[in-house]
Formats: sequence, C-alpha cells, structure tokens
Amino acid sequence: MNKLLEEDFNNFDQLLQKVAIQGTAYFKNIDTEKTTLPVLNTIYEGLNKEGIGGLNTLKLFNKKFKDTIVASSGPRYLGYVVGGSTPAAVIGDWLTTIYDQNPQTTSAQGDVSVQIEQETIKLLLDLFALPHNFLGGFVSGATMSNFTCLAVARQWFGKQKGKDFAKNGISIPINILSAVPHSSAIKSLSMLGIGSTNVSKIKVEEGNRESIDINDLEQKIKALDNQPFILISSAGTVNSADFDNFEAINTLHKKYNFWWHIDGAFGAFAGCSPKYKHLVKGWENADSITIDCHKWLNVPYDSAVFFIKEKLNLLQLQTFQNSNAPYLGDPLENFNYLNFLPENSRRLRALPAWFSLVAYGIDGYKDIVENSVKMAQMLDEYITQNNELILLTPTRLNNVCFSLKDKNKQDKIPLFITELNKEGKVYMTPTVYRNTKGVRASFVNWRTNKKDITVVITEIERALKTTYQH
Ligand SMILES: *Cc1c(COP(=O)(O)O)cnc(C)c1O
Repeated sequence: MNKLLEEDFNNFDQLLQKVAIQGTAYFKNIDTEKTTLPVLNTIYEGLNKEGIGGLNTLKLFNKKFKDTIVASSGPRYLGYVVGGSTPAAVIGDWLTTIYDQNPQTTSAQGDVSVQIEQETIKLLLDLFALPHNFLGGFVSGATMSNFTCLAVARQWFGKQKGKDFAKNGISIPINILSAVPHSSAIKSLSMLGIGSTNVSKIKVEEGNRESIDINDLEQKIKALDNQPFILISSAGTVNSADFDNFEAINTLHKKYNFWWHIDGAFGAFAGCSPKYKHLVKGWENADSITIDCHKWLNVPYDSAVFFIKEKLNLLQLQTFQNSNAPYLGDPLENFNYLNFLPENSRRLRALPAWFSLVAYGIDGYKDIVENSVKMAQMLDEYITQNNELILLTPTRLNNVCFSLKDKNKQDKIPLFITELNKEGKVYMTPTVYRNTKGVRASFVNWRTNKKDITVVITEIERALKTTYQH
C-alpha cells in the first residue's frame, strides 16, 4: 500500500476528529459567518507527484479556501431557495459517505440500502399526507426530478400515439401546456428532445396571480381536439409561491387525457402544515410530483425525490431500463432503481433525509415550515409599511418579492442588491416580476429567527441609504 494512504488509514480517527471539531465550529457559529465574500483569485499550483497526505491536505484547504466559504446554509442566506442542514441530516450525510453504498436492487444479497431508500420515500409520503401509491426515488435535485417525471410523461405521450419513444426516438411533436413553469422544467424539455420552445402558455388567473386560469386551460384542451398532452403545473412558483388549483385540475384530469405533473420543489412543504395544506388540496391525483429535499427538508445537497404513480411503472421502466445488461437480471422480476431513474450508480441520498425525518417527525417539519412562513410575513410587514419599498406580489407562503416603490428608481435595483449583500450579513437575489426589476427573499432555513429579521431590516435600511447616495 502507498505509504501516505497507509498513514492516513492508521490515523483515520484523528483526521475525522479534526474535521468534526472544525465542522462543529462552522455549524454552530454559522450566523456570524459572512453570506458573501470577495471571490478569491486562487493560484493553480498543479498536481503534485508524491502527495502530501490527509492532514496536510486539510491544512492546505484551510489556508487556501476555508476563510472564503460563505454561510449559504445559514439563517440569512435568502437568495435563490437555499435550505440548510439539520443536525440529524448532517450525521446521516456523514454516514452516507462512510458506508458508501450504491442503492440499486433489493435482490442483491445483504444490501439494505434500497430498503432504506424505499422506507424514506414512505416517510416522505406520510409527511406530505400522500397515499402510498407512488413509486418514489432519490435524484440529485428538483431539476433531475422534473427531468425524470417528464421523461416518463414523454413515454406516456408516445404510447397514446402507439409509439415507443424510448426505443425508437421521438417521431412526432409532443404537446406541452404550462402557465409559469420553473426554468428547470423547460431545461428538461430541451434535454428530453421535446424542445424548450414547444410549450403552449396557459393564461394565469386575474389579480396578480401566477396560477393557471382553469377556463383558459380547458379552452386550450378543447383546441387540441382530443389530442393527449402533458400538463406542467406548479405547487409554488418562484416569485410569489403561487399554487395552481389542483382540485379544478383534477376535475379536468378525469375528463381529458393528459399527464399531470406538479413541480412542488419547495411549495410541496405547504402539505406538512395544517395551516397551509389547503394549498395542495387534490394534488394526490397527479401522475407525477417533484419535491426538493435540499431546500425545505433541510438536508445537504444534493437531494430531491420524484413521485410517479405506481400504475405507470411500466412506462417508467421502458424509459430508464438498462436493456443491454443481462447481468442485471430481468427488470420485471428484480426491482432495481437503475431501471427506474436516470442514474445507474448513486450515493445513498436517502439516508440524510431518513435521519432528519425520523429525528424531527411530522411536528418538527410543521414547525420548520410554519416558522419560515412567519419570518416571510415579518419581512412582508416591514416592506408594507416602508415608504420607499413595495411588494410586487402578495406573500403567499415563504417568498417575499419586492422592489423600490418609485418606478423611476427601479433601475437601481441591481445596485440596491449589491449594497444590501455587501456587508455579508444577508444575501438576496434579483428577480423580474411582470417586467419589473425586484428582489426576492426566500425563507426555507430551519434556523432563521426574529433576530435575523431584525438584522435583515437593518441591512435593508442601510442599503436604501447608500443606494440613493449613488
Ligand atoms: C429550485 C427549483 C427547481 C430546481 O431545483 P434544483 O434543486 O436546483 O435542481 C425546480 N423547480 C422549482 C419550483 C424550484 O424552486
């Protein structure tokens, strides 16, 4: 064995302890860490011939990079939709790495990792009060979950036309309807060969909504003249966290022939609060659902799930099966995840989610979700009473979308955001809502509390002053 490898193996406990001490310091003090830092100009020194061993590598990492790691999993990182990691999720993630399993098949002797994944899927279905008639699995993020669901939807569409797209490729246009799809759903359409521009836009409801206008949807369906189609609907749009009316969609779903997909990357978590679960009423009838775990479930990157109705298994298998690998056995006899999702080998992504779900339960997630919404409402109230700011959308759940009130000054939004983020105490990202430049703050982190909102407000006040000085 290589000498350095052997040394590291012998000192493994010390190496892990050092990392545990360093990691604990970061994890406990994250609210004093900066949310932004100037980007480093690192010097590439080349790959060394002999190596330096684990301990020296840790030292080098700390010297080169550690001080410029930003607190993106901390309580005031409100840009994009970025969750943190609960303590239990972190220990589950560490064990995922140590055990280094590859969840594939239940039939392999002595491998429990698929059972862990399937059990975690059931825990998640219970968290969202969804029935157990979905096949679920873990992928790297909601983008890949949308991709997975829409890939099976594509196969379904082909079947309606007597075609097997997975085998023979796409030979006819595929009808897609959507109102305010997430960019990753559109990206999935590009990756799937459906085409990112081949989406018929459904109107949104009146009154500053981002939800599907059901009448317009039915008009569009009728215009398709009984042709099958795929509907991409939303549980939580990114700007205003708006939800489509799933009960109304379900009524149409019974009447017309379409694949119904819900992107609920973060909005799905409304389903774990008695206060907000009305927003997802009727969603259990969808054919497929996308949910991110590295957002509101607060597990480390990279983690998301898809839920696809079990009765559509065969289409899912046709889409993802490894058809020229006889050593994998008959895919219908031996369940193997690699025949039901894009990746073949994967890490045991379910384990951090399993840990966090078991550790905090239904009540823990209800508290996380309701606290996030409360924090969003506090920011909303501040913006409402501030004469220089305006809300661009009502705060429906956990996202606050606002701008400068004076229309002539809205061009200064990029400058305002730069000023706001400059001190590294808060981080927000720009958006555009109905052609107006704005700022978006998304609350999904389990740690965010009232004190953080006070800091956020102080930073907004400071940024308003410095923006207008320019
Ligand atoms: C974040 C998000 C995605 C994409 O998720 P990734 O985890 O970045 O792949 C898709 N849909 C919605 C609604 C999202 O908020």
